[in-house]
Amino acid sequence: MLVNGAWRSAHGGAATAVCDPATGKKVAQVPQGDDRDARDAVDAAAAALRSWRTCSAKDRGQILRRWYDLVMAAREDLAQILTLEQGKPIAEARAEVASAASFIDWFAEEGRRVYGETIPAPSTDQRLVVCKQPVGVCAAITPWNFPSAMVTRKVAPALAAGCTIVVKPAEQTPLSALALGALAEQAGLPAGVLNIVTGDPVAIGGVLTGDPNVRKLSFTGSTKTGRLLMEQCAPTLKRLSMELGGNAPFIVFEDADLDAAVQGALAAKYRNSGQTCICVNRFLVHEQVAQAFAARMAKAAEALRVGHGCEESVEQGPLIDAQALAKMESMILDATDRGARLLCGGKLHAMGGTFFQPTVITDVTPDMALSREEIFGPIASIATFRNEEEAIAMANATEYGLAAYFYSRDMARLWRVGNALEYGMVGINTGLIANETAPFGGVKQSGFGREGSRYGIEEYLDIQYLCVGGI
Ligand code: ADP
Repeated sequence: MLVNGAWRSAHGGAATAVCDPATGKKVAQVPQGDDRDARDAVDAAAAALRSWRTCSAKDRGQILRRWYDLVMAAREDLAQILTLEQGKPIAEARAEVASAASFIDWFAEEGRRVYGETIPAPSTDQRLVVCKQPVGVCAAITPWNFPSAMVTRKVAPALAAGCTIVVKPAEQTPLSALALGALAEQAGLPAGVLNIVTGDPVAIGGVLTGDPNVRKLSFTGSTKTGRLLMEQCAPTLKRLSMELGGNAPFIVFEDADLDAAVQGALAAKYRNSGQTCICVNRFLVHEQVAQAFAARMAKAAEALRVGHGCEESVEQGPLIDAQALAKMESMILDATDRGARLLCGGKLHAMGGTFFQPTVITDVTPDMALSREEIFGPIASIATFRNEEEAIAMANATEYGLAAYFYSRDMARLWRVGNALEYGMVGINTGLIANETAPFGGVKQSGFGREGSRYGIEEYLDIQYLCVGGI
C-alpha cells in the first residue's frame, strides 16, 4: 500500500487475497492493513498538507494533468486489472477507466476556477471578502462496483482543492486503486499527498472517522454503512459526502418511444450486471404498453452474452460474490411466491460460480423485496400503473432518492414529472446520466453532497470570510 510516498506492507505483515469473481481464483495479494497503518497514512497526509495547500492551483493542476495522461496511456492495463478483480466485461472496464480519467482531467481545470467573492459592506470603513480554503486532510472510502472511477471522483477534486487524502478501497477491489496510486506517483505527486491503505475496513475506518486530523470523509457505499460512518464522524464533526444506496424507478409512459425506452432500459439495468447504485430497481410501465415493453426486454435480456469479462464479446459478467447470488435467488423466490411472473432467467447461470441469468419478471407489486430493497443484480422487475399521478406516487414511495428515469414524448409532461420526482438525478429519455461535468448525488436516504461538475470541488473547500477594517 502507499503511505507517505513509500510502497509498504502492513504493520503486522499480514496479507489478504484478491480473487477473480468469475473464477474464484486468487489473482494477487495485498497488505491487510489495520489502525496503525491508517494512522501512519493520516499523519503523512497531515504533514504533506502544509506545502500542498500552498502550491498554486496551476501547479497542482499540471500534476493532475500528467496523472490523467498516464492513466489514459495505461488504459488497457488498468482495464484488464479492473476486470480481473471486479468481473465486469472488458468493454465496460475500458469505459470506466476513461471515466475515471475524465474526473482527473476535469478537476485539473476546475482547481484553477475556485473563485471567491466580495460583499458590499454595511459600513464604509470595511471591506468584506469571501475566500475558499482547502478543507484539509480528507478520507475516502470507496466501493467495489467502480474500483477506478469512485477513487478519482473523490481524489481528483480533493487534490485540486489543495487537500491531501487517505483512500481505503473496497477489500474486493484494491488493485485498481493501487495502480492509480502508482501512476499518480509517476506524475510527480509529492509524498503523503495521496495515501492508499488496504485491509481491515473496521480498523482502518475507525481511524479515518475518529482521528481529529481528518477533516472530511467522502463515502460511497451502502446506506447502512453510511449511517454507521456518519455516527463515527459525529464526535469530531467532520464534513461529509455520502453517496449511498438507491432504488431507481424507470417510468415508461404510454406516449414513450418504446424502442428508445428499451434501449435506455437495457443500459440502465444490465450495466455491470445490475451492480451500480443508479441501476434501475423498479420498471414502472403504463398498463397499455406494459406487455409490449416486457416482451422486448425479455428478448433482449435473453440475447445478452454471459461469460468471463476478459472475453471481448461478453456483455454480462459474474456477480461480485456468493452473497450477492444468494440475494438474487431469495428475491426471485419471494416475488414468485407472491404472484410475480418470470418472463426469462431467474436462476443461477449454467456458467456456475457467481453467474446469474439476466432476468425479466412482471406483475411485481410494492410489497415484494424486489420493490423495497436495492436489487444490485441483473433482474428487471416490472410493475404497471394507470396514470401519471400514480406513476409519480409509486416512484417516490421509497426512502431512497438517488437516480430516476422516465420516457415520454410529451413536452409538458417532461417538465412536470421531472420536477415531481424526489431524486437527485433524473434521466429523461435516456438511460445514461453520469459524467464528469454533471453533479452526481442523491437526496433522502441516498445521502448528500455532489461529485463531479463544478459543484464537486466545493465539497473539498471551506468558506473563509475576511473582514478588513480601518479603511
Ligand atoms: P457493499 O455492501 O456494497 O460492500 P459497503 O457499504 O459495505 O457496501 O462497502 C463500501 C465500502 O465501505 C467498502 O470500502 C467497505 O470496505 C467499507 N466499509 C464497510 N464497512 C465499514 C466499516 N464498518 N468501517 C469502514 N468502512 C467500511
